[in-house]
Amino acid sequence: MRVAVPLGRGEKAALRAGIVLETSETLDLPKGVACKTVCWPLEEQPVLTGELLALAQDLALRQALNPGHILGHVLPQGLRITRVQLRLVNEKGATSWPLARIRGADEGTRRHLAQALAQGEARLLPPGTDAASEEFCVLRVDPPWPVRPSASRQIELLEYLQEHGSVSRRNLTRALGQGTGVPLQSLLSAGHVALTRQDAEDEVEAVEQGLLPPPPAPFVLNDDQAAALNEMKTALETAQTEKRAVSRLLYGVTGSGKTAVYLELARACLAAGKSLLLLAPEVALAYKLRRDAACALPEIPLFFHHGYQSPARREATYRQLAVRQEPCLVVGTRSALFLPVPHLACVVLDEEHDASFKQDESLAYQAKEVAWFRMAQKNGLLVLGSATPDLKTFHAAEGGHLPVLRLPRRVGGRDLPPVELVDISSLSPAATTEHGLLAPQSEQALQEVISRGEQAVVLLNRRGYAPLMYCLDCGRTLRCPQCEIGLTYHKGREKLVCHYCGYSRPFPSPCPECKGMNFLPMGEGTERLAERLSVLAGGPVLRLDRDSTRRPGRMEEILAAFARQESPILVGTQMLSKGHHFPNVTLAVIADGDLGLNLPDYRAAERTFQLLVQSSGRAGRGDKPGQVLIQTRDVSHYCWQYVREADYEGFYAAELARRKLRRYPPFVRLALIRISHAVEENTAVAAVNDLAAAMRGRAAELGLQLLGPAPAPLALLRGRRRYTCLVKGQDWQAIRALYFFAAAQKYTKNLRLFLDLDPVNML
Ligand SMILES: [Zn+2]
Ligand SMILES: [Zn+2]
Repeated sequence: MRVAVPLGRGEKAALRAGIVLETSETLDLPKGVACKTVCWPLEEQPVLTGELLALAQDLALRQALNPGHILGHVLPQGLRITRVQLRLVNEKGATSWPLARIRGADEGTRRHLAQALAQGEARLLPPGTDAASEEFCVLRVDPPWPVRPSASRQIELLEYLQEHGSVSRRNLTRALGQGTGVPLQSLLSAGHVALTRQDAEDEVEAVEQGLLPPPPAPFVLNDDQAAALNEMKTALETAQTEKRAVSRLLYGVTGSGKTAVYLELARACLAAGKSLLLLAPEVALAYKLRRDAACALPEIPLFFHHGYQSPARREATYRQLAVRQEPCLVVGTRSALFLPVPHLACVVLDEEHDASFKQDESLAYQAKEVAWFRMAQKNGLLVLGSATPDLKTFHAAEGGHLPVLRLPRRVGGRDLPPVELVDISSLSPAATTEHGLLAPQSEQALQEVISRGEQAVVLLNRRGYAPLMYCLDCGRTLRCPQCEIGLTYHKGREKLVCHYCGYSRPFPSPCPECKGMNFLPMGEGTERLAERLSVLAGGPVLRLDRDSTRRPGRMEEILAAFARQESPILVGTQMLSKGHHFPNVTLAVIADGDLGLNLPDYRAAERTFQLLVQSSGRAGRGDKPGQVLIQTRDVSHYCWQYVREADYEGFYAAELARRKLRRYPPFVRLALIRISHAVEENTAVAAVNDLAAAMRGRAAELGLQLLGPAPAPLALLRGRRRYTCLVKGQDWQAIRALYFFAAAQKYTKNLRLFLDLDPVNML
């Protein structure tokens, strides 16, 4: 249960939301610790179930954090604060008791109020929300901004909305300070920004229903699908009767109809009085799953949850589910795992190999582990689905820990499209000439597709116009002052942006080194590629990346426009590679196939393989045969032979042998200990060295292999010097022990340490 507790000294102590983990009759306090009285409960019925509390405590233990830290991240914002009032209603009238007033009341009054609450004469109500929190500002235009360059406050507002999506007026004032009223009013009158009474998402969702490509026709499961479904239903029954969680891997080639199996499983679950949680790795796919679910199962109660919804929306979903008695279907992204879903008996993770299922900012957790923990609580079924499973998942499957259900054929019996490699080692990587990233062969293929009236997707995993800006006067490239990383040119926004810390400066503006004004954009991002291809297409080319989809509803609009064939070409980043289904697409061009191969990450080949096989799966999903072209500078890389055949199992065997040789997961446990300090901290370098020496000794005692600390691949980020230690061992316990040892050293005073178990991001 959530309660309000005073935190701080004396009368002025602030009230904070606390969560009662357990109660005890006796008091056994450590020396020097005094007790305070709980001020007041924040709810009549606990919204946080015992199972979620157990989950938070388990995560806390595993991540070496305290449970409060975990709960602070997984509870919706509105449930983390002490916003409540007591409303007392009897025949003499109604009185309101805000927390501050209850706190100031004498013992007798408080006892009286508590009695009233217990007897149902009083209710705990969230206080009325103010208008400024309920009115949301939504962007209506894309950059470049149609306002005078001198209107800096307006531009600031537009930039902020571009960055954050829909924002309440209250939060806008909070973020940008007082004096936003006048510029906001001008933007509203000009129609550049709109104000919506309700959460903008409602409107977006209504619009989106009409905009997404039409849902697939009602389906009948083919034999493979039906067999997989039956297996899952049996597994779930077994789990519940034998009181132990079970898991299955649904391994099906791209286009084999995994979604249809999930939805039928949901139908079966609900018919048996159980809830199912269906998770996608990212928001775009979650939208699509929800739409498919709503079409296929219109009779089933459906909840939708993702991290980009407004706090108010997420809180409402949380509260609804907390009091709900009946089973339901919940579709969402990884954070939906922390919702109090009633009668939860099954969790499905679609595209389970996706790195987005691991969260590594602020609170590190792997969704697969959390899902398994929840199923263990409920004796439920965990389903992992993928065309290119995570190597570790498949390894577990081979070891017999995770039974595999196979969908070896595409729905409708279509073949996977042929994959061809295009050698671009002779093309200039700078792409400054009129010929960009695309080889003549690729342009030729695009040309043919356009002339046949068909469509193509072009994938380039690099957003912006040009990844580097070169000063012709002093010969330097412009770099981020905080990270020393090249700034990416965004033409539409007229800005140079650091993709790692978000630093930006207007462009054109004089070179910070030599004040020169002659620049050459080097290389090619999605923005420039789309611009180039519009010549070929004879009209604007659609583009899907994080920049073009900032505005709420934009992603759906772009996908719908492409489905309506408003442009023959869609250029996009890896956002484009998954899940989407465009029957008229017959060609997929991957402009820079090796972009991921050279990253300092032991999973580089696996990631590249997954991305390319997923992308290849976008072509030839309709009646016409498809074709895939992958451009590469390194045609001899071992990964290609498997990509060409979409031979997951061949790749798996080769990659596994490599990892065994080099001692990488799944053969060892791997963790990163990240160390960083502020650049100006000049004693810190010595401290890192001392710490390193101490850690090496301890690691040897614990039987761990310790590499580093070495400067991180991104050695300078947001003004902090970064180091990483790679730790390999046979169990997590020893790795945690090393981390605790390091954190307790006296050298760490000015250092920041962070433990990342099984990291997905090695930078
Ligand atoms: Zn210069
Ligand atoms: Zn930066």
